[in-house]
Amino acid sequence: MSFEQLTNSYKLGKQDFFCFLQIRHNITHSTTLIDHPEISAVEKILFQQQLKLSLSSFYRVLIGFSTTDVQGVRGVWEKELSVTIDEEKWDTIWSLAKKISICTRTRAIQLKILHRLHISPHRRHFFNHLLSPLCLKCKTDVGTLTHCFWSCHKLQRYWVEIISELERIFHVNIEMDPTSLILGLSSDYLKTAANKRLYNILTFVARKNILLHWVRDKVPSICGWRKIIFELIPLEYLTNVIHHSVDQFYRVWCPFLDYIGPDLSSLLLKGLL
Ligand SMILES: [Zn+2]
Repeated sequence: MSFEQLTNSYKLGKQDFFCFLQIRHNITHSTTLIDHPEISAVEKILFQQQLKLSLSSFYRVLIGFSTTDVQGVRGVWEKELSVTIDEEKWDTIWSLAKKISICTRTRAIQLKILHRLHISPHRRHFFNHLLSPLCLKCKTDVGTLTHCFWSCHKLQRYWVEIISELERIFHVNIEMDPTSLILGLSSDYLKTAANKRLYNILTFVARKNILLHWVRDKVPSICGWRKIIFELIPLEYLTNVIHHSVDQFYRVWCPFLDYIGPDLSSLLLKGLL
């Protein structure tokens, strides 16, 4: 629609011309409205002539979305991580993300990772060309999402250290597998459900540690990883107490408590027992 048409329809004045240019520039350069002009499901509700809009109307629309976009996300992860994720693995990844913790915020973090919603320097540069697209840590490669979670050489050192800690905890070999370390699949080398559960928690904490350093040039450390785990243990313990399953807590956390030793374990659980 031209400025002249808008002026006639909405009685705009000449002083609105600059705003018109700004909005047009934004729509053509920063949105997909031109490529996808159809009305979205949420817009359809908003334009309905009904007097009362309830949250449940929006909720129904949101849960009614198909999983097509999620399949698209799988393709992007496969391409960027150079892996193949079959349907069964993909379903397991989502199922584990929803069970990672009783804490909604924790689950939301993992779901945001899977949906690729974190803003990388590369994406930020797309929004604002004055900002560098380079990785904040190595400052040499383009900071794509996968680079910032996984392939940056500085982060690869961090992941090697995490693997080494995990091997000490579980006493088995652990692979440098991004579908497991980034997307949250369990490791094939772990056999018991309790070990797999602990592995999922510990690798999630490693990802969270990266996110805590997302906009910093500092690389996450093993110390930071342990600190987050120590903060998480009371929540895990109390959750099991509420569900009358303290035995389950010890079954899951036993390898980690053994790894940090009896003194630190008792100190950590002192206030909880
Ligand atoms: Zn880098």
